Amino acid sequence: MIRILANDGLEEGALFSLKENGFEVITEKVPQENLIDFINASQVQALLVRSATKVRKEVFDACPNLSFVGRGGVGMDNIDVAYGRSLGRTVTNTPASSTRSVAELVFAHLFAVARFLHHSNRFMPLEGQTRFDALKKSYAQAFELKGKTLGIIGFGRIGQEVAQMAMSLGMKVLPYDPWVNSAEIEIDFLQTGDTFTLEFETVSLEELLQGSDAITLHVPMPANGQPILAASEFSQMKKGATLINTARGGIIHELDLLAALDSNHLAFACLDVFENEPIPMPELLNHPKISLSPHVGGSTAEAQTRIGQELVDLVLDHFRA
Ligand code: NAD
Repeated sequence: MIRILANDGLEEGALFSLKENGFEVITEKVPQENLIDFINASQVQALLVRSATKVRKEVFDACPNLSFVGRGGVGMDNIDVAYGRSLGRTVTNTPASSTRSVAELVFAHLFAVARFLHHSNRFMPLEGQTRFDALKKSYAQAFELKGKTLGIIGFGRIGQEVAQMAMSLGMKVLPYDPWVNSAEIEIDFLQTGDTFTLEFETVSLEELLQGSDAITLHVPMPANGQPILAASEFSQMKKGATLINTARGGIIHELDLLAALDSNHLAFACLDVFENEPIPMPELLNHPKISLSPHVGGSTAEAQTRIGQELVDLVLDHFRA
């Protein structure tokens, strides 16, 4: 029987489906330092991970019977993909399964800061009393999203889904992507069954930075590991703009971001990803202008179901081929 280790958890339906198809699935969490020994001792042939478990060169080298590594989700920076593939192993991910969930989180954050929800959830309670009146006054400068311009850096799957949602909210969209000139995006109206197709042209980064009320990032980590946005880009952004990062920690310069918030040049930041996960810089965690989430962009029931099903299909393709 083929044995699979699902080391970062696996959705129930997928677990059931793999077992039904005759696979043995181990869901106990094996610590990173014991991973190689466990895979070899238990004769594991397929390893399913999310972002927590690292599958580096040493794992591929030390585990010759590990023929399949599947990452549930998009980013594969926790896996030495090219090296594994050079050894003839199947190394794959489920790139589209969390697109909608990440796009919705962008707006969850944006709506939260627009109405100071991130702040009132932290500061309204006061040891059995409330700061009701004081906060009510200070939140009078809240804003609506309708009519605002959203800059989208990276116009791939998630960037385009965000554009579609922004259009539905009456926002203007400025996308930037050096590898995409234009994209056709469909907006489905569930109520009537109608579909509208809109064509979006991308703009320069400069135009996006200068023209956006909020900017959201949907790019992979650059190969050089350097941030895409730092002090010089923040200084080109509109005063009072909001920055949202649900892509990868490290693609924005965190200290420069704190400086831009503290100088009141930027009004808010919304962060789902951090340079130092799972222990982000305390200055970010405690900042009253930052809305936080613990890297949960793809963590919805719907995305888990799609990820699980896609992994099952990939495993079946690999072992039944
Ligand atoms: P995608 O590959 O479909 O799109 C990425 C786009 O970025 C591509 O069109 C590419 O041309 C563009 N790009 C690359 N470098 C760029 C740059 N320097 N400037 C502008 N554009 C650039 O990927 P996707 O599915 O849209 O995912 C985007 C990112 O979202 C992933 O790389 C991943 O890091 C992140 N993500 C986060 C979560 C989460 O839990 N927060 C979940 C899923 C994905």
